[in-house]
Amino acid sequence: MTPQTTVLPEQMCLRCGHVYDRASNFENDHRPSPGDFCVCIRCAYVMAFNDDLTLRHLTIRELIEAGNDPDVRRHVAAVRAIPEELQANERRTKN
Ligand SMILES: [Zn+2]
Repeated sequence: MTPQTTVLPEQMCLRCGHVYDRASNFENDHRPSPGDFCVCIRCAYVMAFNDDLTLRHLTIRELIEAGNDPDVRRHVAAVRAIPEELQANERRTKN
């Protein structure tokens, strides 16, 4: 199964300001829908999609739900691993 990419309205991560215009699921072909969680590919901040697929901060209830959701936790961990690998590659090329 190949992850599908969905084009979104251009917007920024609500924490780091990374600009988005698309979203993908790492593990399946699920496409974003209102109320789904979204993990920033740069900083791993967890947000949710509004009805128009723009991003919003989580409510307290959603924050608790996301923290207990194994899918969200796995995606956060995967995103957090990306910068470490890139940083390691950067260090290797400078030495
Ligand atoms: Zn971010």
